[in-house]
Amino acid sequence: MNLCDIKSIKQLMAMFSLNFRKEFGQNFLTDNMVVEDIADACSSDENAAILEIGPGAGSLTKELALRYRKVIAVEIDNGLIPLLKYTLGDFKNVTLVNADVMKLNLGDLLSDSFAEGSVSVCANLPYYITTPIMMSLLESGLPFDSITVMIQQEVADRLCASAGSKAYGAITAVLNYYGTAERLFTVTSDKFLPEPKVDSAVIKITLHKQKPYVPLDEATFFRTIRAAFEQRRKTLPNALSAVFGELSKETITKIITEKCSLPADIRGERLDTAQFAALSDELFREIKKNV
Ligand code: SAM
Repeated sequence: MNLCDIKSIKQLMAMFSLNFRKEFGQNFLTDNMVVEDIADACSSDENAAILEIGPGAGSLTKELALRYRKVIAVEIDNGLIPLLKYTLGDFKNVTLVNADVMKLNLGDLLSDSFAEGSVSVCANLPYYITTPIMMSLLESGLPFDSITVMIQQEVADRLCASAGSKAYGAITAVLNYYGTAERLFTVTSDKFLPEPKVDSAVIKITLHKQKPYVPLDEATFFRTIRAAFEQRRKTLPNALSAVFGELSKETITKIITEKCSLPADIRGERLDTAQFAALSDELFREIKKNV
């Protein structure tokens, strides 16, 4: 059965008395080439285990199962489970888990997979929860090799932006701390059923095996990034002063200009992740001095 064929998807949904559930971001892919390209991009290791988030009717799951050692597919919608058992019944290397991925302990679920070899994430992510899912995967500290996801085009542009560009934001700087993001290709909205309002893009995040910069204090590092982008239009000394109330603006300006060799009128959006790490180390040292 062609799981990307619009007629087949509609027949399957009718057979299991299902409707597309907007609250779960259900827009299923209807283009075999796109599904195959996502599955291909996911890993270069055929022995990899793949965590798929939101298998839907199973089109991507099937392509992953054909390419990789095993697939663990987590689907929130219990109505889709009988349908998935029907469409993926022949694939003995697929494990279906009926759960909300945000509530799962992924460390427990994937402990065997991590012990056996590399683990990557692959998903056509539900739009309503894209950023929280991505952040929770990155912050989990689990040793995923890579995360290949289809997300809204605008979010993809933001995540893959370079420092100083319009699309660059706090989330870009934070993501670069965990890995390297690469924009693979665009997928227009007519490749989905039902059609979403916006186009999508597939990105691949390759996680750092070892982080290139380890800030003295992670909390201060994230606080520095948040502060710099909270008021984008302000210069960095002003933006940081608004959040780091324990330091005077004069001290903050000195840290920026003297310790970090940056101009006093620079805006936070020009700093890359390494510069944020260096700046946050200096801020942390100064805060510590004053306690
Ligand atoms: N992979 C399928 C495809 O490409 O055709 C479906 C993708 S659809 C955009 C998103 C899928 O994620 C839906 O099947 C939806 O039910 C599921 N989903 C939404 N929220 C979820 C969550 N919190 N945990 C697990 N699955 C979720």
